[in-house]
Amino acid sequence: MGDKRSPTRPKRQPKPSSDEGFWDCSVCTYKNTAEAFKCMMCDVRKGTSTSRKLLIP
Ligand SMILES: [Zn+2]
Repeated sequence: MGDKRSPTRPKRQPKPSSDEGFWDCSVCTYKNTAEAFKCMMCDVRKGTSTSRKLLIP
């Protein structure tokens, strides 16, 4: 008893340790998760590098 081998490790990791998917806010440089469509600190949209007020046609 207790002499069992270690269980097979799952091939897929539950949580990737890489920073892939995260995006840094260009305004406050806050690191938001990929799920966040806007900055959690300044509510700036994801991907907006400049604060233009031009309406996209
Ligand atoms: Zn921000």
